[in-house]
Amino acid sequence: MPNSQLTPGVVAARLSPDELKQNFSDLHPPFDAHEAAVAADRCYFCHDAPCMTACPTSIDIPLFIRQIQTGTPEAAARTIFDQNILGGMCARVCPTETLCEEVCVREEAEGNPVEIGRLQRFATDLVMGSGTHPYEKAAPTGKNIAVIGAGPAGLACAHRLAMKGHAVTIYDAREKAGGLNEFGIAAYKSVDHFAEAEVNWLMQIGGIDLQCGKALGQGLTLENLSADYDAVFLGMGLAGVNSLRADGEGKENVSDAVDFIADLRQVADLSTQEIGRNIVVIGGGMTAVDAAVQSKLLGAENVTMVYRRGREGMSASVYEQDLATSKGVRIIYGAQPRAVHGNGAVAEVEFEYTVTRNGKLTGTGETFRLAADQLFKAIGQSLQGAPEGLKIESGKIAVTGDGRTSMDGVWAGGDCASGGDDLTVTAVAEGRDAAEDIHASLA
Ligand SMILES: Cc1cc2nc3c(=O)[nH]c(=O)nc-3n(C[C@H](O)[C@H](O)[C@H](O)COP(=O)(O)OP(=O)(O)OC[C@H]3O[C@@H](n4cnc5c(N)ncnc54)[C@H](O)[C@@H]3O)c2cc1C
Ligand code: SF4
Repeated sequence: MPNSQLTPGVVAARLSPDELKQNFSDLHPPFDAHEAAVAADRCYFCHDAPCMTACPTSIDIPLFIRQIQTGTPEAAARTIFDQNILGGMCARVCPTETLCEEVCVREEAEGNPVEIGRLQRFATDLVMGSGTHPYEKAAPTGKNIAVIGAGPAGLACAHRLAMKGHAVTIYDAREKAGGLNEFGIAAYKSVDHFAEAEVNWLMQIGGIDLQCGKALGQGLTLENLSADYDAVFLGMGLAGVNSLRADGEGKENVSDAVDFIADLRQVADLSTQEIGRNIVVIGGGMTAVDAAVQSKLLGAENVTMVYRRGREGMSASVYEQDLATSKGVRIIYGAQPRAVHGNGAVAEVEFEYTVTRNGKLTGTGETFRLAADQLFKAIGQSLQGAPEGLKIESGKIAVTGDGRTSMDGVWAGGDCASGGDDLTVTAVAEGRDAAEDIHASLA
């Protein structure tokens, strides 16, 4: 008998190949030309547009929407890419509901913003789909820059440096570039190998040597890089994961949500991906939501997300929380893990309710248990392998201005650097701005 949502344990193919295909299709299907024209017509082309101020990469949103409206989407794409070379991915993954679309005057007035993200995707897809790359490398400056990490921050930095005529070498620990665009973002936000296609498109600028499978700290040292290159940019993200500190955390089928998500992004055939009947996810951020939603989409019967604080404390936006519940995920607020039970493998997870007293979260002593064939931990990532000698601030590489670290000639940006908000678009902005600062300092 084929497997179903009710099959006990952790098994593959709980749903048919057609159901899986449907479940993992594009979350927001692209606009056709007519839909884009209608959406663009809703924009008021505001003076001092609040949407533009809310965009971490400061894209001239009214301008690009006007360019779509006037039938020049290629120009619109150029407006976007000038500020954000990963505008294609950001159009798919940006939490627009808490950024540009949240402050759109039509959202304020009617509760229905201009669909900026989908318009951005319309323009960028058009140019990227044509295979052309709208930028050229400037005449060689003779300067060489090392970039650590081929995630959004490293890629944006490398592209901007290449545009200025510098020779760039990117080193990435993994065998494939893209960072969390390739290994983190939920599968239904980036379909059809978009992350890989975007890296290939970006590399068309030329002058960037991408070396995968080479990690800082394993053969490469900051000391050597600083000696061999004119500048170093660190965009290494947060490769570590926080632990639960609950009894029994080492049991079988207890894993990090980021690993589950990364495996899922790389699996060639979704019907080979195993998933439990009962899933528990601990955490309150995008990673927790993505793990929970994708578990449900793979056919898990019961998926419960448990977060230690209230709804308002969650770092996942209300939109993301609603997405999870709309897919059938149950969210329990105000409970913290106490222990993982089971004989070898996890069978139940024990939680304790919490309250906040005098600003401090404390357990109430009242506990409950949830059945679990798999437990995914999504309680945050941490900086791993930062080179010695760099100033660290709140667990990240301390930076000032446009990414300057405490060491001369070394810049940092994206998730690994202090400040910021751990979003793709912020990583792009920080990589780009560090590149401008590196360029200015080398002049
Ligand atoms: C599950 C998940 C879902 C997310 N969903 C969204 C979303 O929907 N929208 C959104 O805006 N943001 C989302 N984010 C956040 C977003 O992915 C990150 O903010 C963004 O990728 C940060 O970019 P980065 O370049 O700083 O780091 P990363 O993307 O982490 O890239 C860092 C790169 O450095 C490499 N590296 C690490 N250590 C070394 C080393 N020692 N030597 C060489 N290379 C190294 C890594 O292999 C990696 O390729 C999500 C994050 C996660 C974990
Ligand atoms: S705030 Fe809304 S209406 Fe105004 S320019 Fe931006 S997208 Fe257009």
